[in-house]
Amino acid sequence: MKAEYREEICDGCDQRFSIDDPLYEIKTDHQHLIIFRNRYFGRVLALDGVIQTTEADEFIYHEMMAHVPLLAHGRVHRVLIIGGGDGGLLREVLRHRDIRRVVQVEIDASVIDLCRRYLPNHSQGAFDDPRATVVIDDGMHFLEHTDERFDVILTDSTDPEGPAEVLFSRRYYAACQRCLAPGGILVTQNGVAFLQLDEVRVSAGHFNHLFRDWHFFGASVPTYVGGIMTFGWASDDPRPRQTDRKTLQERFTHSGIVTRYYTPQLHGAAFALPQYILDAIGKT
Ligand code: SAM
Repeated sequence: MKAEYREEICDGCDQRFSIDDPLYEIKTDHQHLIIFRNRYFGRVLALDGVIQTTEADEFIYHEMMAHVPLLAHGRVHRVLIIGGGDGGLLREVLRHRDIRRVVQVEIDASVIDLCRRYLPNHSQGAFDDPRATVVIDDGMHFLEHTDERFDVILTDSTDPEGPAEVLFSRRYYAACQRCLAPGGILVTQNGVAFLQLDEVRVSAGHFNHLFRDWHFFGASVPTYVGGIMTFGWASDDPRPRQTDRKTLQERFTHSGIVTRYYTPQLHGAAFALPQYILDAIGKT
């Protein structure tokens, strides 16, 4: 019988993948890591029993997390990525020609090393780009000790358990706010709202306390089962979120970036949330 990867999604419900080719499994200093190949989704990375990314659908998550804030902002030179050890987000951010510097702070060096080796299609050489600097550190610790300011901060983290728990705290969001340049934007991985509604609710409460402008936007990522995957958006400048479609289209065309999911039309639509999420975040 073929080996199987099984992930508990919620009480009484799980998702399974056949492991057609087991590539690597290790207990790192921070988490359990497994990389395997599935015949449909390609290479798959799971950490502590939670699917992080697959070759087949990673473009959806990474394009939306990178291009929505970068194109809305319009003049991004410096980006901070917290987490994101697979390198897919770094790849998408570096596709923007105006980017001068990306600092990526990943707590677990093994994730970067093993993804470079076993998931090379994610980073596609991005870690070797001279504009990229990798720091092995806890994102919270880094933010509380850096003097740098960033136009965009992206939290590409695991769910709020273990090492990533702190990345969903008010203390963390306040540290991000301090490290944003004027007009800067924070975008966060905020889980699948239907199954992790509390995660969205709690982050919304923190954003509301700290930031002048905040909201969430969504994307459907097939391997993050349960419906819409939500990204948090927080800024002290309301203008980037209001960028109109014509401007987004001009910036997108000018960038020369070819996408498989992101479009300027989808960009605007992604901020239209279903009522159950609006209720949870206290917006009408
Ligand atoms: N796209 C994925 C998702 O939606 O679940 C996230 C992928 S990425 C592999 C998540 C990374 O966050 C992991 O490599 C993990 O080591 C890193 N991470 C977790 N906690 C962290 C922390 N406190 N500081 C920096 N990186 C952290």
